[in-house]
Amino acid sequence: MSLDDRPWETVIGLEVHCQLATAEKLFCGCPNRFGQPPNRDTCPICLGMPGVLPVLNPHAVRLALRAGHALGCVVQPRSIFARKHYFYPDLPKGYQITQYEQPILLGGAVDLELDDGRSARINLTRIHIEEDAGKSSHGEGGATLVDLNRAGVPLIEIVSEPEMRSADEAVAYLRALHAIVRYLGVSDGNMEEGSFRCDANVSIRRAGETTLGTRTELKNLNSFRGVQRSIEYEAGRHADLLEHGRAIVQETRLWDDAAGRTRAMRGKEEAHDYRYFPEPDLPALVLTAADEVAATVDLPELPAARRARLVAVTGLSAYDAAVLTAERALADYFEAAVAAHPANPKGISNWVTSELLARVPADAVAAGPVPPVALARLVGLIDDGTLSGRLAKEVFEAMLAGEGDPDAIVEARGLRQVTDSDAIEVACRAVIAGNPAQLAQFRGGKAQVKGFFVGQVMRATGGKANPGQVNALLDRLLAEGE
Ligand code: ADP
Ligand code: MG
Ligand code: ZN
Repeated sequence: MSLDDRPWETVIGLEVHCQLATAEKLFCGCPNRFGQPPNRDTCPICLGMPGVLPVLNPHAVRLALRAGHALGCVVQPRSIFARKHYFYPDLPKGYQITQYEQPILLGGAVDLELDDGRSARINLTRIHIEEDAGKSSHGEGGATLVDLNRAGVPLIEIVSEPEMRSADEAVAYLRALHAIVRYLGVSDGNMEEGSFRCDANVSIRRAGETTLGTRTELKNLNSFRGVQRSIEYEAGRHADLLEHGRAIVQETRLWDDAAGRTRAMRGKEEAHDYRYFPEPDLPALVLTAADEVAATVDLPELPAARRARLVAVTGLSAYDAAVLTAERALADYFEAAVAAHPANPKGISNWVTSELLARVPADAVAAGPVPPVALARLVGLIDDGTLSGRLAKEVFEAMLAGEGDPDAIVEARGLRQVTDSDAIEVACRAVIAGNPAQLAQFRGGKAQVKGFFVGQVMRATGGKANPGQVNALLDRLLAEGE
């Protein structure tokens, strides 16, 4: 049962793990890439062999700073790496190198515009740099297979304050963060490949209460929809327990997407003592002026600013602007099309959001079969009356099929809309003359028979007559001689 009609408020804090788009891993020279055969991209360092020494990849530091800069974090000139110990097959060293007491970035915030028009600011606690673990998969016969290609891949963990108040807000926050790291080139943000994933901490409390309730932590969330559903489920589970006088156990739970429920992952007796201590093999991370400069070089306009600008300059609705700015490449595409046909941004927006995105994924439009200038030309041909909406769709299909630019398609297929009123009148008169029975019905008071005449004229002109003109002419001609 949903929480909507119950006296509870949901409280959510998210820990987002975001893989950094470096060429190499965090502490060794192995490639940082996805999709290789298991254990290909490994070396003694990321395999955790005794006696090897980690060396920090400066590119990872710069990408972390770039994110921190865009999110308004306070940069810490000196930060410390630590060892976080736990035993798991995909963690060969027996510890993960992360930042603990002194992370590189503190504070910061993400500003949200919610679907209901409200805005919200979600504060960040911190962002720290750490290495990813490998990946276990559970094979046949109870065997566990370990792939260490991911071991040592650089991550930033972005920790929010417990300031989100609904699953919708949590998803809006994640989407905003996802767009920001992608705009910045900090991460490819690929959720299916695990480049962008999160743990959700969920608690509930009575509306008006100021202290926090006991939380559970949800793992295994790898889609926006999974985040939404798991938080709603978990908040409902908390409410059911509390309403039956039972207590919430603080624990880690796993979201089972297929079953649509969470379940306890490990018992309390296995609760972790990570035995953090400073990493003795790495010096303190002391930032240089060059690091700080590199973090701010070529910073793009960020999604929120771009959205606001599109609304102000082109008059788009906030909703359309949000769709168009979700991906940087899509916003670039839209703006290139508007530059080619500045008279009608709204028309271009409609074609992009309803027709183009229905056929081409947002991150592929730039390299897709319909370049922005061609889409702009198509809208221009509608605006100047050359194409009707229906003909424009036919041209668009031909563009998707690779038949070239709109003008070439219009010529090759003879699709030019007939707007010559003499030609349209000739067609209308011929249809009226050829259908005396329908004419008699119309004149006898069956007004809906007009639709028949419109259809016949469109058919006679191969769909090319301007529908507005056909309607107006038929009104006149059918009334003649009444
Ligand atoms: P841990 O390191 O054990 O995961 P933290 O105190 O660092 O714990 O908190 C991790 C996340 O949990 C943060 O995003 C924080 O905002 C969130 N959080 C902490 N307490 C609560 C709570 N009572 N309800 C919801 N979220 C919470
Ligand atoms: Mg945690
Ligand atoms: Zn390596």
